[in-house]
Amino acid sequence: MQNKRILITGAAGFLGSHLCDRFIKEGYNVIAMDNLITGDLKNIEHLFGLKQFEFLHHDVSKFIHVPGKLDYILNFASPASPIDYLKIPIQTLKVGSLGTHNCLGLALEKNARILVASTSEVYGDPTVHPQTEAYWGNVNPVGPRGVYDEAKRFQEAITMAYHTYHQVETRIVRIFNTYGPRMRLNDGRVLPAFIGQALRGEDLTVFGDGSQTRSFCYVDDLIEGIYRLLMSDYVYPVNIGNPDEITIKQFGEEIIKLTETNQKMVYKDLPQDDPKQRQPDITLAKKLLGWEPKVNRAEGLKITYEYFKSLSPEELRKTAHRFE
Ligand code: UDP
Repeated sequence: MQNKRILITGAAGFLGSHLCDRFIKEGYNVIAMDNLITGDLKNIEHLFGLKQFEFLHHDVSKFIHVPGKLDYILNFASPASPIDYLKIPIQTLKVGSLGTHNCLGLALEKNARILVASTSEVYGDPTVHPQTEAYWGNVNPVGPRGVYDEAKRFQEAITMAYHTYHQVETRIVRIFNTYGPRMRLNDGRVLPAFIGQALRGEDLTVFGDGSQTRSFCYVDDLIEGIYRLLMSDYVYPVNIGNPDEITIKQFGEEIIKLTETNQKMVYKDLPQDDPKQRQPDITLAKKLLGWEPKVNRAEGLKITYEYFKSLSPEELRKTAHRFE
């Protein structure tokens, strides 16, 4: 039997590259697509020798042509950290909207099932806690996060429209904060920021008073959830994340302990519209997919720290602060 063929967009990014690994392992032929604006080929270079794998350097905001059949599409192309989408706001809007439209058009043309990567950002600064899929969110469209949040909300809307009007088989995952090897050290997210600072002997920059919360999911758990959702027959959005909620200040303390450094935490202004709390309600994923996270934070952070420690000194010097 012929291998199934899957297109993964954003394939050189953190999540995209882990998805490539997973689908190669499952025996698929993987077509990896990325424009390499925030992605990095080193995340997938170990796959380049494989017959099952091919890479297309392309921006999904432009018309996508892929020769041959396609069984599945995973749309993971997008900048995904606040510092990235502040730097490239227009591209962020375009990839979430035009890029998704192109991917859906391709799915229709190829009769492929498509899963799009949405985000807990569709809930904005949530007034319902924990967040269930039924919550419509509290997003500021014209704030700094609006370019990402609204593009992702549009993405969900156009995905449902392609399902309803064109009967495309669609899936929508709402991804909560995820961490693990291959996160970019300079993407400004809290985990690479804190670990990078600890490794460079700098103090950890806590934004606000650190009382805001997040719930961090280890990447392998997330990939398993996405895999199961793709194989399910559910077309509405599903939260995938780890409900283990923690304040950013506690998180900083954990990183200081993990890295065995003597760094302090220093406090900076809280960025505008920074959500005060975030925790996924994963009742639906449990019921629908029999999925729940398996890796606890202590284990996941240990593996992630080993990855960051293995980076070269030049890599480690790369940093990004929102207060530069
Ligand atoms: N944060 C922080 N110090 C940093 C980077 C981020 O205190 O150096 C905070 C940020 O204000 C937010 C939380 O950590 O409250 C998570 O930020 P991140 O950028 O990782 O993702 P978000 O969940 O906000 O999209």
